[in-house]
Amino acid sequence: MDDLAVAAAGERLRAAKTVSIVSHQRPDGDAVGSALGLALALEAAGKTVTVALADGVPSSFQHLAGADRVVRQGDPHADCKVMVDCGDITRGGSAWLPDWPIDINIDHHKTNTHFAAVNIVVPDAVATAAMLAELIPQWGFEITPESASALLTGMLTDTIGFRTSNMTSHALRLAADLVDKGAPLSELYFKALVERSFEALRYWGQGLSRIRREDGLVWTSLTLEDRKISGYNGNDDADLVGYLVTVRGAAIGVIFVEQPDGTVKVSWRARPGWDVSQIAVRFGGGGHAPAAGATVPGSLDEVQSAVLTATRELLTETL
Ligand code: 5GP
Ligand code: MN
Repeated sequence: MDDLAVAAAGERLRAAKTVSIVSHQRPDGDAVGSALGLALALEAAGKTVTVALADGVPSSFQHLAGADRVVRQGDPHADCKVMVDCGDITRGGSAWLPDWPIDINIDHHKTNTHFAAVNIVVPDAVATAAMLAELIPQWGFEITPESASALLTGMLTDTIGFRTSNMTSHALRLAADLVDKGAPLSELYFKALVERSFEALRYWGQGLSRIRREDGLVWTSLTLEDRKISGYNGNDDADLVGYLVTVRGAAIGVIFVEQPDGTVKVSWRARPGWDVSQIAVRFGGGGHAPAAGATVPGSLDEVQSAVLTATRELLTETL
C-alpha cells in the first residue's frame, strides 16, 4: 500500500466531523460491506457518517448493522467524502455526481482511474473490505463487532467464500482477525452467499433453460419478461453468471441482462488464465481479470452479438 496516501487519508478522516461514504450502483457485498464497515468504525469514534448507495441495500445484506440507514445520495458538503470499491467516479451512479470532488478513493479494481485527492488502490487485494480491515486500525479507529461483520461480508462475497484464485493466506488471516473481533462467520456466509429467494431460483430457471455453449464460452441472457414471469424484482442476474463458468470445460461465462432503459448489463466470469477486464473496458465497463462487467447501450440481440464476437476473439488469441 502507498504509505503516504494511507497517512494522508488517516489525517483527513481523523480531522473530519462529518463523513459521506459512497459505493457503486447495483451494489454487491463488497460495496455494502466496505461502506458499512468503514461507517460503523468511524461512528464508534464519534463521527457523523452517512452511507449512500444509488440502488439501496440488496436483501442478502439487509441484516448488517446500519443497512437500514443507507440513503440514496451522498453529501458533497461533508467534511470528508469517501468512495469505496469504485473503479471510477461514475460508478456511484445517481448517488454521486461526477463533478462532486472525492477526498479518498479506496479500491482494488485494476482499472481504477485515481479520481480522488487521495487514492489507495491495491489491485492484489481480494476485496476493498480486506483493505479496510488493515486500514481502519492503522488509522487509529476500532473495528467493532458490527463493523467486522460488514467487512467479513465484503471479503466473503468478492472471494465467493474464499475460493477465488487470488485468495492468499494473508487474506485468510485478515478474515480470521475479523472473526476474532466478533463477526459470526457461518451466519454471515449463509446470508450473503447461500440463502436465496424462491423468485431468484425461478429467474435462474428462465436463464438456465436457454444456456448456450461454444468451445470454452458459456452464456445465457435474462430478459425483462423473465423478471415478470418469475416475480424477481431486481435488474441484476441474481448471481447466475458465477455458475455459467462452473461448467466443465468452460473458460469464460457471460450473461446478458436486459435493462428497462434500453441498455444491457453484461457480466463476464473467467477461469484463471483469462483476463475479461480488457473486454469489459472496451465496452465502457471495467473490473478484474476473473470478473468484469459493463452496461452497454443497444438491444439484447445487438449487444449479445458484439460482446460474444469480442469474447470469442479473446479466447482464440489466448489459446
Ligand atoms: P458484475 O458483472 O458482477 O456486476 O461485476 C463484476 C466486476 O466488474 C465487479 O468488480 C464490478 O465492480 C465490475 N464492474 C461491473 N460493471 C462495471 C462497470 O460498468 N464499470 C466498471 N468500471 N466496472 C464494472
Ligand atoms: Mn470489490
